[in-house]
Amino acid sequence: TDFAALGLAEPLQRALAELEYTQPTAIQAQVVPLVLAGQDIAGQAPTGSGKTAAYGLPILQQVDLQLDAVQALILVPARELVLQGRAELKRLGKYLPNLRVAAFYGGHSFSEEAKSLKQAPQVVIATPGRLFDHLDRRTIVPNNLKVLIIDEADKLLELGFQEVLANIVMRLPRRRQTLLFSATMPDKVLDLVRKNLTRPRQVQA
Ligand code: AMP
Repeated sequence: TDFAALGLAEPLQRALAELEYTQPTAIQAQVVPLVLAGQDIAGQAPTGSGKTAAYGLPILQQVDLQLDAVQALILVPARELVLQGRAELKRLGKYLPNLRVAAFYGGHSFSEEAKSLKQAPQVVIATPGRLFDHLDRRTIVPNNLKVLIIDEADKLLELGFQEVLANIVMRLPRRRQTLLFSATMPDKVLDLVRKNLTRPRQVQA
C-alpha cells in the first residue's frame, strides 16, 4: 500500500513525498483508515514506529482549517515530545493553509502561551499539567474538540499523570474520538482505555 491508497488528501501526499516517506509504516497502514472512519483506537506502538504521523495525518485531514477553535488535542509526557511532535505535524501539514499547531508545556511562559491562543490553533500538543492549567483558566475552551490523543500512555501513568488526565477528560466534550498509544499495555493503561475510549479497535505495530 501507499499513502494515496490510505485515503489521504493531496496536500498531505505532497508533504509526504517531499519528506520521502514513500511507504506507510505498519502502524500507519492500520491506524490512518481507522481514524478517518471515526473509530477509537488503542494502539500498541513504540517510538520510532511512525506513530506521530499515524495519528497526525488523519487528524490533519479532518480539522476544519476555516475554524479558529481547538479541534484536536494531543497529550504527551514530556516537553521534548511536545516539541518533536509539533515539528512533525508542521512538516506533514506544510501544504495545509491556515493550519496552526500550538505547543504547551510546563516551564514555558504561561502568559506567552495564553497570548498565542488569541487566535485559536486547530491542533494543540501539550503536557498534561500545562494543558489542564489552560482549561482551568479558560485560555483554551474545548467546545469544538473532535479528537483527543493520549500518546505514550504508559509513560504518562508512570509519571503520575493519572489524576490530571482524568481532570482534563472531564472537561472535554463527551462526543469525541479518542486515540491512545502506548509502548506497553499494563493493567493501568488498559484501565485508562476502558474508562476513556468507546469500542476501541486494538492495533499493534
Ligand atoms: P515516531 O515513531 O513518530 O517518533 O517516528 C519515527 C521517525 O520515523 C520520525 O523521524 C519520522 O520522521 C519517521 N517516519 C515516520 N513515518 C515514516 C514513513 N512512512 N517513512 C519514513 N520515515 C517515517
